[in-house]
Amino acid sequence: MINVPSNSTVAYFSMEIALDKAVPTYSGGLGVLAGDTLRSAADLSVPVVGITLLHRKGYFQQHLDASGNQTESPVLWRPEDKLESVDARTTVSIEGRTVHVRAWKYPVRGVTGHEVPVYLLDTQLPENSEWDQTLTDYLYGGDNHYRLCQEIVLGMGGAALLRSLHIPAQIYHLNEGHSALLTLCLLEWQLDGRKAFELDEGDIEAVRHRCVFTTHTPVPAGHDKFPIEVVRRVLGDEAVALLEAAHCVDDATLNMTHLALRLARWVNGVAMKHREVSQGMFPNFPIDAITNGVHAGTWTSPAFQRLLDKRIPEWRLDNLYLRYAVGIPLQEVRAAHAEAKKTMLAAIAERTGVLLDPKVFTIGFARRATPYKRADLLFADPARLAEIATSVGPIQIVFGGKAHPNDSGGKDLIRRIHEAAAALAGQVSVVYVENYEMEIAGKIVAGVDLWLNNPMKPLEASGTSGMKAALNGVPSLSVLDGWWIEGHVEGVTGWSIGDAETEGDQSKDANEIYLKLERVILPLYYGLPFAYAEVMRASISLNGSFFNTQRMVEQYVRNAYFPEETQVLQEVG
Ligand SMILES: *Cc1c(COP(=O)(O)O)cnc(C)c1O
Repeated sequence: MINVPSNSTVAYFSMEIALDKAVPTYSGGLGVLAGDTLRSAADLSVPVVGITLLHRKGYFQQHLDASGNQTESPVLWRPEDKLESVDARTTVSIEGRTVHVRAWKYPVRGVTGHEVPVYLLDTQLPENSEWDQTLTDYLYGGDNHYRLCQEIVLGMGGAALLRSLHIPAQIYHLNEGHSALLTLCLLEWQLDGRKAFELDEGDIEAVRHRCVFTTHTPVPAGHDKFPIEVVRRVLGDEAVALLEAAHCVDDATLNMTHLALRLARWVNGVAMKHREVSQGMFPNFPIDAITNGVHAGTWTSPAFQRLLDKRIPEWRLDNLYLRYAVGIPLQEVRAAHAEAKKTMLAAIAERTGVLLDPKVFTIGFARRATPYKRADLLFADPARLAEIATSVGPIQIVFGGKAHPNDSGGKDLIRRIHEAAAALAGQVSVVYVENYEMEIAGKIVAGVDLWLNNPMKPLEASGTSGMKAALNGVPSLSVLDGWWIEGHVEGVTGWSIGDAETEGDQSKDANEIYLKLERVILPLYYGLPFAYAEVMRASISLNGSFFNTQRMVEQYVRNAYFPEETQVLQEVG
């Protein structure tokens, strides 16, 4: 087991955390990763507390009309039905106003009963102005000014709340840059009444010593930036002076990633390749890598849970045991998958009215709809796809994913998939499942026969849905980017689109997809079903056993949170 020094607490800050199917406080991969991280921390009894915002209006409910036009509505949910109210209160200062912050608690319980509390911050209090009350309503909503104010609540309000709860955090983990203003709060505490100009290297070191930062975004445009004049108006002269004294303002801009980089002692990317890309973007800061994972117990279908409980009962406590899936009889793997496929098809029929065929090879593609993910690449040449389905074996395709309300390119993608679906009717069945969220995601990643992922390189920092698929014996066909560079063994755990070195382009990548489907994957699926089942089984034993958040959290504990302590233990032991 891992060693955690006694009386240590790690405060894990994330703008979104997917806690529960009925708590709509996440938008996609980042939130699911945060939730899975805390679920594994609970399983491992690592002393972590989570901090996030309440998001009273949720992310959003996606509605699609027959042509694939997306509209959005708020998700109405009642925090009091799902969360425990907490008495503690704290405040932050915004534009000179005192904004009161309350919190709700969600306990994440691990396999042995250990509890990781998550505090969801909420400004809907009668003592706040009407506008301040909306600060914890919308995840990734509003303008840049709204976002800055939210990040003050998250970072500074979160740190202050932990203080008022008497939870002393030794380590602060910033999951992405949104919470980076917590370092400003730590700088203020470090000064303890001294003025900004008195800040010295020792003070900065003291703050850095306690902060760990995980970056998730491989493009500069993805990082939150605020003009320093806006920051000055919102946070005041003294705060800006402090940020300047700590060398965290460049070109009259506060960049949250730069702030986190400067004030964290340890920084990591979320896959080996993403480390490299991030190191190129930020050559002045050493960047490490801890590859993402998923929570095995959460993402394994009921059918595979039963199979694993029977064959490898230790798997929930220790995900390394998934390695022994290599010995499970292929017939049992096939049977568990058939059941997961049936469950998915029933859920799709219920949501869309479309009855797909359980005997037909089914491709899954579901994730945020945004241009770099290229959801419509499979339809680059619809006639060719139809020809493959007719001559080699039938194909049906399941899509899902929300476009951010302001992402017109993402919305176009959804429309184009609907157009292609109409054009292919009668040849290839295509369904787009509305309102992709954890519940339906769990069924799709487990129920399809192949998980397709074709982002533009190197924009996929990690990707996690292919890991969920792997746990359920669903191989990937994917571009060699993010985690797949590490998880891919050609023909053993799945298949690649292109190679890792050369840059893919639209037509080359589409051509590779068609070639692999036509010559390798479909012939295997329809012609040699037990050989296909071997790929399924290897996905679990080779990739399920590694790409899980249990291994990931253990690496965070050893490499990021408590490296000195671990070294001391090694020297003594
Ligand atoms: C896992 C998951 C994602 C992330 O998918 P990627 O493949 O990493 O893009 C997004 N949304 C939901 C609901 C998920 O469960």
